[in-house]
Amino acid sequence: MTLNVLVIGAGMGGLTAALALQKSGHRVQVVDRVPELRPVGAAISVWSNGVKILKALGVGDAIEQASGRMDVMAYHDQDGTPLTRFSLRPLYDDVGQRACPIARATLQQVLLDAVGPANVTLGLACVGYQVNDDGVTAEFADGSTRRADLIVIADGTHSRLRERALGRAVARRYCGYVNWNVRVAATPDLAPLDQWVQYVGNRQRVSMMPMSGDPATPEFYCFFDVPLPIDTPNDPAGYRDELARHFAGWAEPVQRLLERFDPAAMARVEIHDIEPLETLIGERAAILGDAAHGMAPDLGQGGCQAMEDAWVLARTLEDAGDDVAAALRAYDRARVERVDEIVRRARQRADTTHGADPAATRAWYAELAEEDGTRIMGGMRKTILGGPLG
Ligand SMILES: Cc1cc2nc3c(=O)[nH]c(=O)nc-3n(C[C@H](O)[C@H](O)[C@H](O)COP(=O)(O)OP(=O)(O)OC[C@H]3O[C@@H](n4cnc5c(N)ncnc54)[C@H](O)[C@@H]3O)c2cc1C
Repeated sequence: MTLNVLVIGAGMGGLTAALALQKSGHRVQVVDRVPELRPVGAAISVWSNGVKILKALGVGDAIEQASGRMDVMAYHDQDGTPLTRFSLRPLYDDVGQRACPIARATLQQVLLDAVGPANVTLGLACVGYQVNDDGVTAEFADGSTRRADLIVIADGTHSRLRERALGRAVARRYCGYVNWNVRVAATPDLAPLDQWVQYVGNRQRVSMMPMSGDPATPEFYCFFDVPLPIDTPNDPAGYRDELARHFAGWAEPVQRLLERFDPAAMARVEIHDIEPLETLIGERAAILGDAAHGMAPDLGQGGCQAMEDAWVLARTLEDAGDDVAAALRAYDRARVERVDEIVRRARQRADTTHGADPAATRAWYAELAEEDGTRIMGGMRKTILGGPLG
């Protein structure tokens, strides 16, 4: 049966859901409160599980073409001493798909073009919805309403609508560190152009990841992580000095990066997650993406899990025919445990990297010096192969 579906939120979760549902033959409208889609943050690594879904939806080749080649992974300590370096090829061969680090704006544009801009209304904030006998009626800040058979709640980590669906408030939890991220022209004096290079020490981290598909204009997606109290003052004009203080004495390539980034193009995020939810559905409502499982970015899985949600929702609706409630129950069964595990692992990874227990962080640094790639790629393989497309 063809359903009328209303998706709230045109981030990567909402747009992937819209695309997956359109491909199943449903009529989909997407609404976002912002007048212009300008993703916060420089870039994102779409790991193989996410890319497989984008490929199945017909946009994977465009994503692959526009993304960076990240063939090798390396860690150094803060002085620049190499800890480990290994090829990611065995992982990609095993799971059947490489990772695609890509500019957020490019990913958003590819998804928007595929969904069709005419199906997306911008500048319209959803303030609530009512469930009626035969569907839902969403209410908007301008006083208008829209009716649908199903509402997809993809309004991000600060979601207001998930509380309506769940009937309870959901609190975000500060993960204890701040992330600054930015794109920088890639040059070999920063890092080899095909390598994801990270520097770790003192519970902090610097990362440079190749992210451009155009060899003429190579770029790194760079970030700095620093454990800090919540609500530390945020002054873009002071980013360079502030980061130079946090990373004083670190290796030469880190010092070059500190001189080169454009503070005006930088995003700063106090990293939060939410406790795994007991259910990802309400009556006539599917919760999806960060609204359903805001997580620490330390596994690079938040967006990939949103893509998995989207794929699974479309499959469960197909399988359940016109029984929306049965489809939602199947979606819930398929996703709750998967995202619960990933939110917890991401939190654990964030804690270890950023010194929640300093002894565990020191032990991790020692482990990295012994790492030949087997353990790290084993974790990635498990995450990727646990997805709906294997
Ligand atoms: C520093 C950092 C690095 C990350 N790195 C990675 C990575 O490498 N790989 C990865 O997979 N993930 C990564 N993530 C996670 C990823 O960014 C998120 O999981 C993803 O953006 C979530 O997409 P979403 O569509 O669910 O939410 P969002 O992108 O937040 O989109 C929600 C949309 O809903 C709209 N909205 C909100 N309220 C309303 C309303 N009331 N009415 C209408 N519209 C509304 C908003 O305007 C927004 O456009 C990272 C996150 C961070 C912070």
